[in-house]
Amino acid sequence: MPDRPQVCAVITEETVKAARAAMKRTPGIADLIELRLDYLRDFDFSNPNSLRVLLEEKPLPVIITCRAISEGGAQHVNEQIRVRLLVEGAKRFADYCDVEAASYADAESLSPDLSRLIVSYHNFDETPDDLNAVYDRVTSLPAALHKIVTQARTITNSLAIFKLLQRARDDAKPLIAMSMGQAGIITRVLGPCHGSFLTYGSMRRGKESAAGQMTCEELINKYRIRQLSRETSITGIIGSPVGHSASPAMHNRAFGELGLDFVYLPFEVEEIEEFITRMVRPETREMDWTLQGFSVTIPHKASILPLLDDLDQTAREVGAVNTVVIRDGRLIGYNTDAQAFLEPLARVHALAGAKCAVLGAGGAARAVIHGLLQSGAKVSLFARNAERGSVIAESFGIPLSPIESISSSGAAVIINTTPAGMRGHSEGTSPVPRAALRGRQIAYDLVYNPAETRFLTDARGEGCQTIGGLEMLVAQAALQFALWSGRSAPLDAMRDEARRFLES
Ligand code: NAP
Repeated sequence: MPDRPQVCAVITEETVKAARAAMKRTPGIADLIELRLDYLRDFDFSNPNSLRVLLEEKPLPVIITCRAISEGGAQHVNEQIRVRLLVEGAKRFADYCDVEAASYADAESLSPDLSRLIVSYHNFDETPDDLNAVYDRVTSLPAALHKIVTQARTITNSLAIFKLLQRARDDAKPLIAMSMGQAGIITRVLGPCHGSFLTYGSMRRGKESAAGQMTCEELINKYRIRQLSRETSITGIIGSPVGHSASPAMHNRAFGELGLDFVYLPFEVEEIEEFITRMVRPETREMDWTLQGFSVTIPHKASILPLLDDLDQTAREVGAVNTVVIRDGRLIGYNTDAQAFLEPLARVHALAGAKCAVLGAGGAARAVIHGLLQSGAKVSLFARNAERGSVIAESFGIPLSPIESISSSGAAVIINTTPAGMRGHSEGTSPVPRAALRGRQIAYDLVYNPAETRFLTDARGEGCQTIGGLEMLVAQAALQFALWSGRSAPLDAMRDEARRFLES
């Protein structure tokens, strides 16, 4: 078993020249290479000698693979030619070959070097209920290493992979195991600490060989996979979707900056109750891990409330949780959005008695209104949906008006809490006409991507001072960071990382 998590760089180039060049870039970001021969378009599969030119200058140990179409291969290669290439290639040029369990008999008939053989099983549809039976079948085939890869349909499918890794450890059998897809990402990052022989990474975005595969650079630098152990404190973000969240970039950079043994992962969670029971709550969870807490995003900010043991006062008053801390076995909910929203605004404008107009009646509006009222501001709500608006207005005891009437409001501060203008949603639009911004002192947009929204451009054009959503994004993360780690967050590093993430 390797003494530190190993990263295997997957080469998915279409030409021999490009594959050779890609392999040369692997030292420093990987420990091994998997060369996917099935991606090559200019390669003679019928002649194992053609591997010489590919592998004569290999910078790291190489696993050769030529996947069958039925197990995710990129092109059809005659079965006998394919298996002979792998078996002969591992004997003469590569360090390992990876052959599907379904092709084992063909490989066996060629007298493979068992010390260089990996036997694998892939399931691109699901994580089967009988994964133990799959393990029994695959590991009964003599080889140096066995590999089981399944599709995660839900994050709780990852549990089956971690249980399998535990079983392999108990059996002292080296195993590579992981689940594919966004919901399986935690198996890719934490798998090696739980005994997986390696984890795979792509050479760059767009070159992945499977869904959910990160780049080697992300595994090494963002998730610091080589430093992770079973003692590493785990945090993350639950939501659906979480793939585009800036939070993993910000938090992992901050943990790295302070040298803390923490990692922050994306948890793609649809069934919140099942996740809390099976993976979070210490007395019922089926996973042995050091989870310290997590961020909560859409759509779970309100639905998580009844699943927690306690709420801090702000979360209770806002009616939404964006942070959970697991302390002494109890799940405690916090809301850092309200304070984070206030910080950049309070720096530039006195809020006591200030007239503030809030646009939008969603979860963010609740945190914003709570923060403003706590600061003594006079708040009015403007919503397009009267039903949703009146629920919020009544619960906070503030006036509600249709969003079209914003122009006649005399508010000095106008805050956009709608997603209007957001990238991928309605970029380039504003929730209000430009004239509605005339005469305001401050326009604050919670949208942070893009940094410059139409709402902010219009407001500046009308002479308003503007605040974008990035500062709030960083501030709410910094408060979460402090709750989990007990340390002050490195704000500049987090802001820098958030900017880089949003610009990438
Ligand atoms: P949400 O719960 O879905 O609520 C969105 C609200 O905006 C709803 O009331 C919706 O009205 C209204 N709305 C949507 N499009 C509109 C439009 N074109 N004109 C008028 N009203 C419109 O979303 P949320 O969680 O509150 O988040 C809202 C935004 O704030 C998102 O862009 C989010 O990224 C941002 N945010 C930023 C931070 C930060 O740290 N900077 C923190 C939290 C949220 P209906 O009810 O009629 O649909």
